[in-house]
Amino acid sequence: MTKHIFITGGVVSSLGKGLTSASIGLLLERRGLRVRLQKLDPYLNIDPGTMNPYQHGEVYVLDDGTETDLDLGHYERFSNAPLTRECNFTAGRIYQEVLRKERAGEYLGQTVQVIPHVTDEIKRAVEKLVAPDVDVVITEIGGTVGDIESLPFVEAIRQFRLDKGYENTLYIHLTLLPYLRASGELKTKPTQQSVGKLREIGIQPDVLICRCEVEPTEEMLRKISLFCNVPRDGVLVEKDVDHTIYEVPLVLRDQKLDETICRRLGFPQRRADLADWEQIVHDVCHPQHEVEIAVAGKYIGLQDAYKSIYESLAHAGIRHKVHVKIRKIEAEEIEAEGAERVLAGVSGVLVPGGFGKRGVEGKIAAVRYAREQRLPYFGLCFGMQIAVIETARNLCGLAGANSSEVDPKTPHPVITLLDAQRRVVDLGGTMRLGAQPCALQPGRARDAYGSATISERHRHRYEFNPAYKAPLEQAGLVVTGEHATLHLAEIIERPDHPWFVAVQYHPEFKSKPNRSHPLFDGFVGAVLRCAKERGNGAATRVAVP
Ligand code: GLN
Repeated sequence: MTKHIFITGGVVSSLGKGLTSASIGLLLERRGLRVRLQKLDPYLNIDPGTMNPYQHGEVYVLDDGTETDLDLGHYERFSNAPLTRECNFTAGRIYQEVLRKERAGEYLGQTVQVIPHVTDEIKRAVEKLVAPDVDVVITEIGGTVGDIESLPFVEAIRQFRLDKGYENTLYIHLTLLPYLRASGELKTKPTQQSVGKLREIGIQPDVLICRCEVEPTEEMLRKISLFCNVPRDGVLVEKDVDHTIYEVPLVLRDQKLDETICRRLGFPQRRADLADWEQIVHDVCHPQHEVEIAVAGKYIGLQDAYKSIYESLAHAGIRHKVHVKIRKIEAEEIEAEGAERVLAGVSGVLVPGGFGKRGVEGKIAAVRYAREQRLPYFGLCFGMQIAVIETARNLCGLAGANSSEVDPKTPHPVITLLDAQRRVVDLGGTMRLGAQPCALQPGRARDAYGSATISERHRHRYEFNPAYKAPLEQAGLVVTGEHATLHLAEIIERPDHPWFVAVQYHPEFKSKPNRSHPLFDGFVGAVLRCAKERGNGAATRVAVP
């Protein structure tokens, strides 16, 4: 029988519930359990696909094309749990289903209400992951306990225990112990109050994970245990990690969280084998070199907007034993100050995915700089489209060349909508989405993958315009990867350049700390060589404590 772990958050948002859920997934998986991970988000959008990065951060795309919350990225990087459309539900999707049933007459004349109809639909969403080959489903509830939006979700998971029994359900509550600098102490009151909120609904948490900046005293933990009615071994500390998020599972393991969970849910006690994970953390903490890479984007001030890209660069860094320092650049800054100034001293340039006009000219200038200075360049999605525009304008003599997304009246739409997308009216869920097969020609990408066919995830509307393939290739920008059946250009390279690869898809969604993505590997390797040749500080060993 599949067992259930529910993870809620209290006091404030952004406590790292996603990371904690992913870490628990990893710990249980390493004990041989078959784990699934899921996130329930209380907002009313059907999915985060149409949300502004300022609101939501990165949209993480799954193989099946679902546009999901970025926490699913953590799930996928930490665990091997397969992720599908059933792994991220929003309140919007839940209500959409309830309203569909109401219109179809499926409620047989009843008054349709939050309890039981919405809560039943939420429970059904959790049940979707139950299967004979699943030992445990970890369900993270987005938002903060006490929010109006979260209420139906918290109520639904309370009912879940009533339905499934105490021995099959476990509640973990992540909370904050704020540190008051003036008095130099941690405070437990917000935790007591947020557990109070849970108990009002009828949930007694089994485990409390206390996020904090400094280590709480044993006395304080005993007080939390007493006031919140949680046994002392269920009160854990998750202090801010010093070096890398990949330490979190080890921190929880050291406090025997996996042992507590397995005891409580009746799983056999086995040791979680984490030797490789310990090695990852060791390697992050002991790099031999440092390189600096410019990421020129549009939401640079936003920690979460390019989450998977930053993680993927770090993974390749682990592989090459280098610390990848990222110079985050607002593309508009390049427009104002010039690429030479803003990019001086970096050993590689990356242009990430993006939408719309703002900053495009700055990104084009960044690509030109990388091409002319022979710095490794890696373009992701929009970053590939920008590379095509740059060559069209600066080497093919196609003045005013652009993507028709950016300039609908461009005389040379080198990136454009193809027929399938022209007919689309709705914005949500209508891009080219999810895993698609790609056939590779000889080149750097194929060398990196070590394979002639690959599958990568897409999320975009516009495409390389095949009408311009010949002049672009004459100018040295060669198509080395095409969709296996639709023949859309997926990868472009400059064979005459030390490392210039740009892809129409999002490789950052398939990198893991223990299995870095081949293209990120290739890029960071090239950046390291470039830095060494130029004496950009990379040859020096960095001392990290
Ligand atoms: N805006 C571009 C398109 O829709 C690129 C999208 C992206 O970078 N994800 O095609």
